[in-house]
Amino acid sequence: MDSTKIDSVDIQANETTFCDEVAAVPGGEHIRMCFSCGTCAAGCPVTEVEKDYNPRKIIRQIHLGMKKEVLSSPLIWLCMMCYRCYSRCPQQVNFTDIMGALRFLAIKEGYAPKTTVKQNDEIEMLAQALRQKMIRESDQEKIKLMEEIKAKIG
Ligand code: SF4
Ligand code: SF4
Repeated sequence: MDSTKIDSVDIQANETTFCDEVAAVPGGEHIRMCFSCGTCAAGCPVTEVEKDYNPRKIIRQIHLGMKKEVLSSPLIWLCMMCYRCYSRCPQQVNFTDIMGALRFLAIKEGYAPKTTVKQNDEIEMLAQALRQKMIRESDQEKIKLMEEIKAKIG
């Protein structure tokens, strides 16, 4: 089948390859179900503070086969993996796990800077330690801990 050529980019060939690659990673299965409604972006806590971060746009880029742009973008490391987008998506597109798939591919294929991966691991370890501490603390101690964190991050 012929491919569509726009500005020397082979849209159809790229779409098949990259979108299939993402769909093949566990969690990425429903990527083609997205109909670009934007509900995910509307409820995303990262989009609220970083306007360039938009789950709907990232999915669209995957559909268009923009592999290099997506996997080399620092934006894919901003997701907090909170699953809010997935819980609101009318098409059951699991964007949180798609983000995991993108990070996996970015590391596997050498797009992710080593410093970014290291920083991300450190943040995850800190977040995990914090979650465990929050679970163990009493209600009063949890409130105190939250106030301390708020004061630290301003
Ligand atoms: S909410 Fe679901 S269908 Fe709508 S843009 Fe986001 S991923 Fe796509
Ligand atoms: S999982 Fe990521 S993309 Fe989805 S709402 Fe949370 S921060 Fe946003």
